[in-house]
Amino acid sequence: MSYTTALHGGATDDILKSLHKQFTIDDQTLFKITTTFLSEISDGLSSYGRAMAMMHVSPTFLSYAIPTFVKGVPDGSETGTFLALDLGGTNLRVCEVTLQGDQTFSLRQQKYKVSEALKTGEVTTLFDYLADSVDAFLTESSTPSKEPSSLIGSDPYAASNQDTPYLPLALTFSFPVEQSALDSGVLLTWTKGFSAKNAVGKDVVKLLQDAFDRKHIHVKCVALVNDTVGALLSRAYTSGGCILGAIFGTGTNGAYVEEVSKITKLGNSAAAAAGGDMIVNTEWGAFNNSRSALPTTPYDNKVDRESINPRFQAFEKFISGMYLGEIARNVILSMIDAAPKPILFGGRSSDQLNKQWGLDTALLSEIEEAWEGLGRFSLSPGSVEVTELEKLRRIQGVLVKRLELSPPDISLADADIVRQACTLIASRAARLSATAVAAILVHTGRARLWDQGEQSSAGLKDEGKRIGVGVDGSLVEFYPNFQTKLRASLRMLVGPEVESRVDIGMAKDGSGVGAALCALVAQRQSQAART
Ligand code: BGC
Ligand code: MG
Repeated sequence: MSYTTALHGGATDDILKSLHKQFTIDDQTLFKITTTFLSEISDGLSSYGRAMAMMHVSPTFLSYAIPTFVKGVPDGSETGTFLALDLGGTNLRVCEVTLQGDQTFSLRQQKYKVSEALKTGEVTTLFDYLADSVDAFLTESSTPSKEPSSLIGSDPYAASNQDTPYLPLALTFSFPVEQSALDSGVLLTWTKGFSAKNAVGKDVVKLLQDAFDRKHIHVKCVALVNDTVGALLSRAYTSGGCILGAIFGTGTNGAYVEEVSKITKLGNSAAAAAGGDMIVNTEWGAFNNSRSALPTTPYDNKVDRESINPRFQAFEKFISGMYLGEIARNVILSMIDAAPKPILFGGRSSDQLNKQWGLDTALLSEIEEAWEGLGRFSLSPGSVEVTELEKLRRIQGVLVKRLELSPPDISLADADIVRQACTLIASRAARLSATAVAAILVHTGRARLWDQGEQSSAGLKDEGKRIGVGVDGSLVEFYPNFQTKLRASLRMLVGPEVESRVDIGMAKDGSGVGAALCALVAQRQSQAART
């Protein structure tokens, strides 16, 4: 028996057992979720129903699957210097990216805060701020690292003033946008705590361009790209091949390379006639909004009900960094309030804990690091193994500091309970994330679901080859064991042979580099159109 099991008594044990039961998703359920995923992807490819519903009518639960008009992926030989603006993660970023053409790039960037007031105010105020940030970046930054190879001079892209060159910029905008071209698309809904007014239904490229033009900033927004698409493109650029870009950060989503002939909702459009491949933005954060397949606990329901978008982004609310801390906070509060007797912190809470969003996912990460001996808790080589008792003391220390509780209120048993809750919540997130990756592999013909008795990978697409997946986001980059757990579930879902060929790599600076690649594509397409 481990030390930690000995810490707890009857009532606590029962509550912990029930928590385990509620948060553990068994293998059969994972298969079922993956199957549901597959059918929602098909629905999304065949109909715009979801998008229409988002803008006009009450929520229906069809899926997205947004054509991005990005055809094919780069091979690393691309060159040029571009500006990129990245909105939708923790920070707003402006960067200047130089693609060196040998699978490498250099990048200069500046981060800017986006206040709650901007996230929830008038959309023009938000976009004015975006334009001002770009302006500040351009004026504050020293001389451009390179003569921008991509100045738009007398270009049909460039607006009225033929003499003034416009700098081309790609916007990485990480929200559901129904694209109609590489450089236009309307916002379907906000996610991740944004709710700026008068934005839904508007073309975001136009919103940004209007802001530049109002301020006489000589920048032209030439491309619009989701962060998942950016991750896919940048991973393809640096690693020579990628079929899926996925974000596991503040939000979650994936984009993959699809055959145009399978995007049947494109109908008889020019895009459909052109054939070939196109990147599809799945917006899988909205997967299973009906929650028919997702095993929802009362804690999840509470998080959802109190969010700014109840009943939307269901999958994201089980997985992403914006929500894991909030789920944990609800679990912790329920144990502080447990009847007939509190089982945590002697029944005491803190202002921090009582506040919605008061518990950051970074805290869960820190607690797990303390337990696993990772991050700042890593052992230096040669030092002795730390005992469980010592690890719990560390967690105790973390809790005192971050939750503003007083030390006597936090016992070692408390530290252990919180640690178990964090692991349960994060493991569930990692396992669910695997269903999304598995669904894309199966959908694109690169894997079969392993429960169907199929043991051979004969006849699969890319049989025997590396399957490139580019990922980005705080969870996958920093959360202890997130990727290991995701991989373990993926192996269970698609079998060890396929899983061993899945090469998951960080798409570092994906939003910047991917956006630059998109700007390049846009530029080539406009040049082609002129000749
Ligand atoms: C958005 C996606 C985005 C994802 C990751 C989600 O909330 O809807 O467009 O890719 O977050 O940033
Ligand atoms: Mg980001």
